[in-house]
Amino acid sequence: MKITVLAGGVGGAKFLRGLRQHLRQALPDGAGGTTAEVTVVVNTGDDLWLTGLRVCPDLDSIMYTLGGGNDEVRGWGRLGESERVSAELTAYGVGWPWFTLGDLDLGTHITRSHLLREGRTLSEATAEVTARWNLGVTLVPMSDQPVETHVVVADASSDTGTRTMHFEEWWVRYRASLPALRFEQHGLESAVAAPGVVDAILGADVVLVAPSNPVVSIGTILPVPGIRTALQQTGAPVVGVSPIISGSPVRGMAKACLDAIGVEVAADAVAHLYGSREVSGSAGRGILDAWLVDQSDEALVAGIEAAGIRVSVVPLWMTTVDTSAALAAAALDAAGTLTR
Ligand code: GDP
Ligand code: CA
Repeated sequence: MKITVLAGGVGGAKFLRGLRQHLRQALPDGAGGTTAEVTVVVNTGDDLWLTGLRVCPDLDSIMYTLGGGNDEVRGWGRLGESERVSAELTAYGVGWPWFTLGDLDLGTHITRSHLLREGRTLSEATAEVTARWNLGVTLVPMSDQPVETHVVVADASSDTGTRTMHFEEWWVRYRASLPALRFEQHGLESAVAAPGVVDAILGADVVLVAPSNPVVSIGTILPVPGIRTALQQTGAPVVGVSPIISGSPVRGMAKACLDAIGVEVAADAVAHLYGSREVSGSAGRGILDAWLVDQSDEALVAGIEAAGIRVSVVPLWMTTVDTSAALAAAALDAAGTLTR
């Protein structure tokens, strides 16, 4: 079975760890402990050059989590991390003091930057960097070209009345507290989907949209030329998992992103944002056949189904690997019940 997943960082990683566990139990044997082949199309909108190094936060969150090298308590970065190099960089006055790169993490960024400078594409570099980690899934960046998310905020002191900053500055330095006027994807006009992305979607048996940030993770993958069309054309069912439970983004600051694009923080609002593959909404045809919502959001089912998206109601909290695995199993079940 071929499964293609669209994912951002931490939410995507949790979901993928559950999916991998479920597949190892349900479809054992084969490489990576399962006969299923999982390709993950990862958001690279958060990527940036920092202190001369290419940093890819979402690719690395997934790599460390699936590779068992992540810090579970802190929720991001490497286990047993130290920050001696970062302290030196701060002493030199380079980099972002509020965006600490740990010593072990820097090993990843140095390796990736080395490969890019030798002429490898980001997908080639990603294949080389992930090879060491025995992930059991294939990570593919959404694009080999940089498509960086920038955030436009109000700034009375500037001539234009606005200021634009990299997403990570808005998110990490300002904790998403500066109201965003809009998000821009710098580089999108000269980008295409990375090699293998469109084929992975068209050739899949099932496509899953992870419970990742709908604006700055999934929302940045969809406009990459080739990807939305592939999702609409694939013969595979496309099943999404709501990143919103009971009107809350569960963990983190996703509300600030949805506020910026005028979408309510609600499981049905995100389903409508992605849209149905069958029924055209105000924004044309969408990408979903089915949508998973939490039991606490049962009241939203009728409205989502009226828009042409089948709904499954299951527990959506990914508190342990087992609960994430049950969620992944439910997503595959929903795909199995779709007759396309
Ligand atoms: P990031 O790139 O590290 O911000 O991570 P993602 O974009 O992949 O995922 C972040 C989103 O995951 C959050 O905004 C939440 O909406 C969602 N999320 C986090 N934990 C859970 C959970 O336990 N269940 C569900 N359904 N969604 C979650
Ligand atoms: Ca991210």
